[in-house]
Amino acid sequence: MDTDEFRRRGHELVDRIAEYWETIESRPVRSKARPGAIAAALPAAAPEGPEGFDEILADFDRILDPGLTNWAHPRFFAYFPANISPPAVLGEILAAGLGQQAMLWETSPAANELEAVTMAWLAGAIGLPDAFRGTIQDSASTATLCALIAMRERALDWTGNSDGLSGKPKLVVYASAEAHSSIDKAARIAGFGDAGLRRIPADDRFRMTPTALEAAIAQDLAAGSVPAGIVASVGATGVGAVDPVSQIADIAARHGIYLHVDAAWAGSALICPEFRDIAAGIEKADSVVFNPHKWLVTNFDCSAHFVRDPAVLRKALSILPAYLVSEGSTAGPEYRDWTIPLGRRFRALKLWFALRSYGLEAIRAMIRNHVAWAEEVEGMVAAEPGFELAAPRSLALVVFRYRPHGLSDAALDALNDRLISIVNETGFTYLTRTLVGGRVAVRLSIGNLATERRHVVDAWEHVREVAESLGGTGHG
Ligand code: PLP
Repeated sequence: MDTDEFRRRGHELVDRIAEYWETIESRPVRSKARPGAIAAALPAAAPEGPEGFDEILADFDRILDPGLTNWAHPRFFAYFPANISPPAVLGEILAAGLGQQAMLWETSPAANELEAVTMAWLAGAIGLPDAFRGTIQDSASTATLCALIAMRERALDWTGNSDGLSGKPKLVVYASAEAHSSIDKAARIAGFGDAGLRRIPADDRFRMTPTALEAAIAQDLAAGSVPAGIVASVGATGVGAVDPVSQIADIAARHGIYLHVDAAWAGSALICPEFRDIAAGIEKADSVVFNPHKWLVTNFDCSAHFVRDPAVLRKALSILPAYLVSEGSTAGPEYRDWTIPLGRRFRALKLWFALRSYGLEAIRAMIRNHVAWAEEVEGMVAAEPGFELAAPRSLALVVFRYRPHGLSDAALDALNDRLISIVNETGFTYLTRTLVGGRVAVRLSIGNLATERRHVVDAWEHVREVAESLGGTGHG
């Protein structure tokens, strides 16, 4: 493809994306593709010769388009959002076109220095103290893995594997029963293993219980184990649970344990001063992660990872072979020492485009709307006979259950599974199943830039109608 064709095709594709956004409401939210159908429609081997772009796009329309689950759909209420916005998408296109690989400061001074600046903007926007420094990771999972590796190395007093890990005392990391599965995965990869991750019981509001954390640490110390780190959740995935960060931070400080805060979803809401209470004490953490790619109008991937003392990460992760020795930057960090991969994308560009194009106040207004509409849904669920809230609302996440009278727990679980399955199959809206106290519940998570109040009301109405079709709203 020469640059003339690139120019023409590029304009066509931007038109296509704009049209996709303009017509997205007419699409099913979740793809209706049958498993295997897409792969079966594609050739088994790459073409030996060139194919025309018209032909490629025709195949995209015929084969791939039906396999799109439309995350930008205004009635997408599943999981947590993975937002996009026009300026962020333009930033992504520009970053791809410029081909920056930001593994060293000198391989892209622009990417590295813009990353430092945008992370300082975000730290300020969510109210973190100036001492924190940030980098952009691909995901919260990577940030948490880096945190666990730092916990491990610090707990081993930076002696690494010199005596053989098997000769070392057992290292333990603590997280609440509600904490995200990325912590289990990080514990495995970082060598804590499943046995080295202690899940601390949560209270009746799904928060980690500080006294149970204290007791677990005391028990582990008495057994000769080494408590290495704590992961506190601010907005865990199941019901949006928020741990008491301040109390947990005090326990961490008393025992000299590293504290990482996983605010992957809820962290974006901290740009609104009125929501900061949920994370009180976050300034005492060693590190914090939140995902602008969830709720801060920046398309995936863009995960903001803040550390109080970058030297801890660097000591754990820095490796300098001869081919990476560079003149470096006197002004900023070499972010490859803060993460797993060497190669790094120019992620800051899309974030910078989005933050400048909207300004924080417009993003705050979006988040406030989402929370207000979730509050309305909470009220509608509570007022609807045959439905109940399964957990207290957390910001823009409402978790509820269809609960007509006279059914056993097992029958109610089956009924809610059926409700979710039918709602999602219709393609009208898209919700996620979770378990609350071992019982099936429905998550409705509001977070898309395109969502308006009417989409939320329509989705709830749809859920109600499907429930009714399953056997009435069971007032009896
Ligand atoms: N932590 C929480 C609370 C999450 O909800 C999620 C994903 O939804 C993650 C971590 C993992 O995020 P990522 O996909 O960026 O690894």
